Amino acid sequence: MTTTQTLDVQPTPLALLLLGRESDPRSERGVDCPGDLPAPSDPDLVARARAAKARLGDKVFILGHHYQRDEVIEFADVTGDSFKLARDAAARPDAEYIVFCGVHFMAESADILTSERQQVILPDLAAGCSMADMASAEQVAECWDVLAEAGVADVTVPVSYMNSSADIKAFTGRHGGTICTSSNAQRALEWAFSRGEKVLFLPDQHLGRNTAVRDMGFALEDCVVYNPHKPNGGLTAEQLRDAKMILWRGHCSVHGRFSLESVEDVRARIPGVNVLVHPECKHEVVAAADYVGSTEHIIKMLDEAPAGSAWALGTELNLVRRLAKAHADKQIVFLDKTVCFCSTMNRIDLPHLVWTLESLADGKLVNRIQVDAETEHFAKLALEQMLALP
Ligand code: SF4
Repeated sequence: MTTTQTLDVQPTPLALLLLGRESDPRSERGVDCPGDLPAPSDPDLVARARAAKARLGDKVFILGHHYQRDEVIEFADVTGDSFKLARDAAARPDAEYIVFCGVHFMAESADILTSERQQVILPDLAAGCSMADMASAEQVAECWDVLAEAGVADVTVPVSYMNSSADIKAFTGRHGGTICTSSNAQRALEWAFSRGEKVLFLPDQHLGRNTAVRDMGFALEDCVVYNPHKPNGGLTAEQLRDAKMILWRGHCSVHGRFSLESVEDVRARIPGVNVLVHPECKHEVVAAADYVGSTEHIIKMLDEAPAGSAWALGTELNLVRRLAKAHADKQIVFLDKTVCFCSTMNRIDLPHLVWTLESLADGKLVNRIQVDAETEHFAKLALEQMLALP
């Protein structure tokens, strides 16, 4: 005989956050999504999205990140990586509502770069980025104190990846650093090393290491990893003094999953395959790949690739699938054998988009992302520094 027990288990705050059901104002991940969402099975979703978008007309501008689902990309006025999208939004000052189909830090950057009268909206506030969440403002402030204690803060320039919260961008601006993207990380590091002896690279250790070692000729030993969960980052003052690159211990949960084994495996399965990966992948994966580049670079390389060529892509699956569809004359496969989407990017789906557009069309402002004035000021300094990179 079996018995059924009722377990008195309360959901933890983290579990609720992951479900998008709770709020944590200190988290980049965001808060819950109010309102009644249409059912995903509603056969009229496409027609409803079209109708609401038509009602809004030029007042709305929809941005779609490359990693979004096809059902969402279909409604995007423009697609791109996070920085390109933020700039596209700023170039459309007539659009009152910027609906950002991407993740939380991207909507924050768009709010920083757009005008006062433009309102940036994230269709699901639980769409965060696990990498951006790996560096909180408190942790980074503590790290700076550790560097000061070791006597190296004065000669260290912070360089923060676009994939970081507005707070981290503001920290970077306050301390005379710059933001970078995966396309201009080398230029950002060269600029930083012309101003200081060391770089604190936040929050993606892989992009920092790959750029310094693969593109700029630093040794792996020049890099140390600061672990915010250990006292003093797990580093001695001597290690900090000897290092050139102080890498924050953060990574992308999608790109970080590709392994050397997946590269070897695809080479054995598809003779002559070109392995093309994003620089957020681990160093050993990047070292074993044939080509490395940002999302925009990957798209461009495939546009220019000859018909009949074979490609294994180490990047997000929605994009890989779309590229495979767009280039039927080439063989394009996902680098890993196991399917993996960016789960937070995937939170933006058609029901959330319909709910957002219909609410706006009815005059209800929902899910606005707004960065406070002081944070915005310093984050903008760091973003402007990026735009001024030589
Ligand atoms: S793909 Fe990685 S870096 Fe991009 S949003 Fe998802 S978790 Fe963040």
